[in-house]
Amino acid sequence: MVEQNKIDGEIFHKTIKILKDLIKFKTVSGKPNISLIEYCENELKKSGATSLKTFNESKTQANLFSTIKGKSSNDKGIVLSGHTDVVPAIASEWTSDPYEAREEKDKIYGRGTSDMKSFIACTLAVAPLFESEKLKKPIHFSFTFDEETGCLGVPLVLADLKRRNLNFSVCIIGEPTSMKPITSHKGYNEYVTHFTGLSGHASNPDVGVSAIEYAIEYSNKLLELRDTLKKRQVDKNKFFPPYSTLQIGKISGGTSANVIADKCSLEWEVRPINKEDDNFITKSIDDFTKEVLLPKIKKISPKANIKKEIVGEVIGFNKDDNSEAVNLICNLTGDNTEGAMSFGTEAGLFQNAGISTVICGPGSIDQAHTVDEYITYDQIKSCLKMLISLRDKMI
Ligand SMILES: [Zn+2]
Repeated sequence: MVEQNKIDGEIFHKTIKILKDLIKFKTVSGKPNISLIEYCENELKKSGATSLKTFNESKTQANLFSTIKGKSSNDKGIVLSGHTDVVPAIASEWTSDPYEAREEKDKIYGRGTSDMKSFIACTLAVAPLFESEKLKKPIHFSFTFDEETGCLGVPLVLADLKRRNLNFSVCIIGEPTSMKPITSHKGYNEYVTHFTGLSGHASNPDVGVSAIEYAIEYSNKLLELRDTLKKRQVDKNKFFPPYSTLQIGKISGGTSANVIADKCSLEWEVRPINKEDDNFITKSIDDFTKEVLLPKIKKISPKANIKKEIVGEVIGFNKDDNSEAVNLICNLTGDNTEGAMSFGTEAGLFQNAGISTVICGPGSIDQAHTVDEYITYDQIKSCLKMLISLRDKMI
């Protein structure tokens, strides 16, 4: 047993030191994260962990999968999972540098403090307690890239583990849930639809193709589908709002009022509560493009076009019946509530790989992606307590 004063003292201070180091790495999604991954790999190596890495195509980003072996290496282990990327921060909007941790009144500020470098810091600080010669089963650490932009890193890890024929019993994803067990979340799909028109003098709009006008028609269709999603709401679910949502976040195009716009793009997202709604939106908007809009614009200019680009499609998550992961986390935290979230995580992908999964981590989702993001010391201590209880169960 690890005493409470050790959690409040030595281990806590080590966690804060690691967290400060992690925040310094500007691992914004899409940007290199190799230095952070090497830092984590070195920390885990001190605890006897061996590591596997998978990379993006240009080798500028990596996923780390590290293992501290148990006494019996055949046993299925437990995975602690976090993403290393953070959303961008506009420094001028922050009270202090987003990439220099600042401590104030039992809180620590910095980009990624809640989402989700504190969880990673907690796992690294606790790792030495998972002593290999005592562990009943292995403990694994999975740190991925580009979760925020559509879970692009984790499929590479899962494919690599499958190739190596490695199996796992439970995965705990430490996204910021205020340490409450989350057992379901909506899917998250992000798209950019590109409209290519035909430029021309605004005095004769009929000879050109206004990319903007077709983007508006497309938007109207999306809004119509959004209303239909509300009506498709299923009776019993824990989500807020309790139906699938669709939102148009950005529209860009055109030059000036007197020029027919030849380019326009529309950035939009869907958060489906189930696969049926997901398929419904995809089919409806793709059919509308193919059957209505494309024939209309091609008639004026064969070069005009509409193309939907998938930025990312994150599948939803719903715990399996009698979930081993949920039972474990309820046991570790003493919290038997089962919450739902409206944002995507890697949980559905781990679960699809046959690993019982639950989401539970320090920090509040209200802090994620915000200016002056912070985490409270209390949240970090609760997470350390949970991880140490896990270790106590495993030895
Ligand atoms: Zn996150």
